[in-house]
Amino acid sequence: MKQLIDPFGRTIEYLRISVTDRCDLRCSYCMSEDVEFLPRQDILSFEEIVRLAESFAKLGVKKIRITGGEPLMRKNLPELIVRIKQIAGIEEVVMTTNGTLLTQYAKPLFEAGLSRLNISLDTLKADRFHKLTRRDRLQAVLDGIAEAKKYPFAGIKLNAVVMRGMNDDEIIDLTDYAIANDIDITFIEEMPLGEVGYDRSVTFLSSDDIKKELSEHYSLSNSTHKTGGPAVYSSVANSNTRIGFISPHSHNFCGDCNRIRITAVGRLLLCLGNENSQDLRGFMRANSSDEALTELLIKSLQLKPEKHDFNLAEEVQILRFMSHTGG
Ligand code: SAM
Ligand code: SF4
Repeated sequence: MKQLIDPFGRTIEYLRISVTDRCDLRCSYCMSEDVEFLPRQDILSFEEIVRLAESFAKLGVKKIRITGGEPLMRKNLPELIVRIKQIAGIEEVVMTTNGTLLTQYAKPLFEAGLSRLNISLDTLKADRFHKLTRRDRLQAVLDGIAEAKKYPFAGIKLNAVVMRGMNDDEIIDLTDYAIANDIDITFIEEMPLGEVGYDRSVTFLSSDDIKKELSEHYSLSNSTHKTGGPAVYSSVANSNTRIGFISPHSHNFCGDCNRIRITAVGRLLLCLGNENSQDLRGFMRANSSDEALTELLIKSLQLKPEKHDFNLAEEVQILRFMSHTGG
């Protein structure tokens, strides 16, 4: 079988697909309040997404993460999950969501075959949630988490971006919430993607600082748990909860990177911290054959850089927002 191997010998088995750039929240670190969404015809159709997933599966991709924007803003999303799950070679379809629509969608997603949910939650305070996301929707997220827990997903995990002076006083509260709900939690260092109107070098907090605070409250031990992503885990004594750390700044994880992304408009993005990309939508819409598409995917892998280099001291280098990329 042909495989996706980049110039540095890394084999790609994990694909993240952004199914929309739209969102019902406006998280300040992710998009601006007056963000303009893309015209619908620019966004990949379900047929195009499935065609790409099939091509990637034939090249060894085993795991697909559905993301956005907010993926649940995309109409009939469970139908897409069903179609991707049917593709030979795809072992897992997982999703990252802000959780606001899970009361409605947790059941259909589980029935469609989605195995894991990552739910973003940066604060448990309603007024702070409103300030951080510019929308008053905390209760909808908490209700969504409760609803998701009713179904036996292989995993439900919280994702929290921690920012100094914004929500770093809630590291313990968020962890206690995860422990009380018997789910995992991952703390993410903020990445400099897009211009957001504040200085990210001021709000930056490293995973080491977060871990230090956690170690003072819980008995942590290193865990070998792996989900195929960049998080490194610790276990919390006397609980089932694992705490993950995603450290794009402080602990470069590029050496074992197995991931690539497709943006909502069908650009193949080889690295979050780099602008190298390849237009797949235009290629597909030009009636190209499946064989030609496969060749293009293999060739595009040559664009994957060895590593990202986020430098908070410099001007914003990556102008696209996370919502365009798909987190
Ligand atoms: N809307 C969904 C959500 O919020 O989970 C999925 C898309 S969102 C872009 C995916 C993840 O990226 C979220 O966990 C979000 O917190 C994270 N994210 C967005 N902008 C970020 C940034 N500048 N640095 C670090 N993480 C970021
Ligand atoms: Fe929307 Fe997710 Fe970005 Fe927040 S992080 S604005 S929920 S896409």
